[in-house]
This record gives sequence, structure tokens and C-alpha cells, in this order.
Amino acid sequence: MKGEKKKKIVKTIRIDVEKCNGCRACEVICSASHAEPKYSSNNPARARIRVICEPYKDIYVPVYAGDYAPAECAGRDKYTIDGKEYDECSFCRASCPSRDEFKEPDSGLPLKCDMCEGEDEPMCVKWCLADALVLEEREEEVDEEEEQEELAVGLESLADKYGLDKIIDTLTRLSKKE
Ligand code: SF4
Ligand code: SF4
Ligand code: SF4
Repeated sequence: MKGEKKKKIVKTIRIDVEKCNGCRACEVICSASHAEPKYSSNNPARARIRVICEPYKDIYVPVYAGDYAPAECAGRDKYTIDGKEYDECSFCRASCPSRDEFKEPDSGLPLKCDMCEGEDEPMCVKWCLADALVLEEREEEVDEEEEQEELAVGLESLADKYGLDKIIDTLTRLSKKE
């Protein structure tokens, strides 16, 4: 029932930007371990983590893909780090219509970090030899409501892009073919 609380182990990854050296192994293993079939390909454009690299300034900032955003947000900030100004969206985790980041390159469907559900440890954490990514777990009381599944988020983004009627028409047409 909505509003009820339940206990859940919440997993997060602590990022230490001082330790990150920009090797991008996290992007490679994330895309490879989420390929279909698993490990059949690797393409960092499909990764659910992106490392913002400024090698001349020795700045590397890993950013995890977060929730799908159907529209651009209004309030955006700019960041100045070591004298360089970063775009207002640089460190945002959203898969958002304003940019191509955190979207499947072929389909445009949103990508979101799933914490490597099913693995004993997130693959990016395992492969980060610099220990810049550290898994943390804590017990929290959360709302009973389940998180939206990846499939539901994908369908929502397609409906935003093409309109719900077109999606329903296409699904109806496909189901008749079977
Ligand atoms: S694997 Fe670790 S050190 Fe390498 S880019 Fe990713 S976070 Fe940085
Ligand atoms: S990518 Fe930019 S516009 Fe989109 S939600 Fe993030 S900050 Fe807002
Ligand atoms: S936790 Fe898993 S899904 Fe999330 S960025 Fe790391 S490798 Fe990718």
C-alpha cells in the first residue's frame, strides 16, 4: 500500500575524485557487462557511468547515470573548477532531452545505473584499481512503492518522443504479426 515503509538495503557508490586517474575502465566494463549477450561488445557510449576528463588539469570526475528526465530542468548552475568553467549540465546524472549522454546510441532509450543487480559487487567498483569507487551499503526505511522498472522507463521515454498513440499503434501492429 502506498505510504507504508519497509526496510531495505540501500547501495550507493562513494566517489573519490582525488583518486580517479581517468583510465575509464569503469566505462568499459559497465558497457561490456550490460551488452547482450554479456561481454559480446564494449562501447563506453553505452556505459551507465561517464568520466569527465580534463587531462591537462588532472581533473577526472566519474558521474553515474541517474533517472530519466522527460524535460530539461529550469534551474541550472555553472561550476568553476581550477579556473575552468563547466557547462551547466556537465555533472548532471539525468538522461535528459537536452543532450545525448546516458542514452543508448542506437535507440536513444535512457540508460540508468542499476548497481549491477545480480553481481556480487558493482563491476565498476571491482575494476577501479585506483579505489576511486567504493561500494557503501546501509539499511533505510523506504516507501513501499517499487521503483519504476527499466522497461517502464524506456516505454515512457518512447511515448514522450513519439506520442503514446503511435506507440500503441506500433505494438498493436507488431502483435498482429505474430
Ligand atoms: S576506473 Fe576508477 S580510476 Fe578509472 S576512470 Fe573509472 S573511477 Fe576513475
Ligand atoms: S542534463 Fe541539464 S537540463 Fe537536463 S536535467 Fe540535467 S541539468 Fe537539467
Ligand atoms: S554499478 Fe554497474 S551499472 Fe552502475 S555504472 Fe557501475 S558497472 Fe555500470
